[in-house]
Amino acid sequence: IGTLYIVATPIGNLADISERAITTLSSVDLIAAEDTRHTGKLLSHFNIKAKTFALHDHNEKQKAQQIVDWLNEGLDIALVSDAGTPLISDPGYAVVNLCREQGAHVTPVPGACAAITALCCSGLPTDRFQFIGFTPAKSQARQQFFLDAYESGITSIMYESTHRIMASLDDLQTALGAEQQVVFAKELTKTYETFFSGGVAELISFLTEEPEKQRGELVLMLPGKPKQQEEIPADAQRMLALLEPEMP
Ligand code: SAM
Repeated sequence: IGTLYIVATPIGNLADISERAITTLSSVDLIAAEDTRHTGKLLSHFNIKAKTFALHDHNEKQKAQQIVDWLNEGLDIALVSDAGTPLISDPGYAVVNLCREQGAHVTPVPGACAAITALCCSGLPTDRFQFIGFTPAKSQARQQFFLDAYESGITSIMYESTHRIMASLDDLQTALGAEQQVVFAKELTKTYETFFSGGVAELISFLTEEPEKQRGELVLMLPGKPKQQEEIPADAQRMLALLEPEMP
């Protein structure tokens, strides 16, 4: 029985590819790629000769059974997306789900993921966080999305597209106010990597003054709503109030 390797590829800086990713991509019988031309460039950069086929959002449901059949026939297959970790806002879920259902062997070859790469340099709490994918396309849905993210009480990480960033930030401002802290991470691991942490209104001015900063790939992060005083039980609050004058 063959193995399906879920192989992460760089999100910008090609030096971020792992040694295991290179050996895996060089040794498998087939590579399922989100875009065969895009992956072709990566493979030729690393001098890897391999057979690729397209696996994208529009065909992965139909292709999933074929892939499981190939694995059962003993073929080793790697699954890659255009950049980063497959399945994370990228194709592959239908395939891995079917593999698990039918007992096929799936194993990860981990590497870059824009969400985690952004989070670890954001300065926001990392003990609890949620990744909530791309922001919705419509303004009202987006405002609700930001409100829900904030209300969750934990750090939220989301992907945003360059042509929607300003409209999204306007909605974020409407939903949570001009002072709401937000972290913006752009072009991670690339030449024009930029981080901005501050109020949403400040971020809007920053991006308006330097419109080239709106372009490229970007991640938005939002801290969760702080725990409210009222969430501490009333008797504990009374106890704290009594103890406060005695405290150093
Ligand atoms: N599977 C990928 C991953 O592991 O991050 C994400 C694929 S998703 C289709 C593409 C989105 O990821 C972009 O629109 C952007 O929000 C984010 N992204 C990817 N590369 C990035 C980078 N170098 N810097 C910032 N954001 C990036």
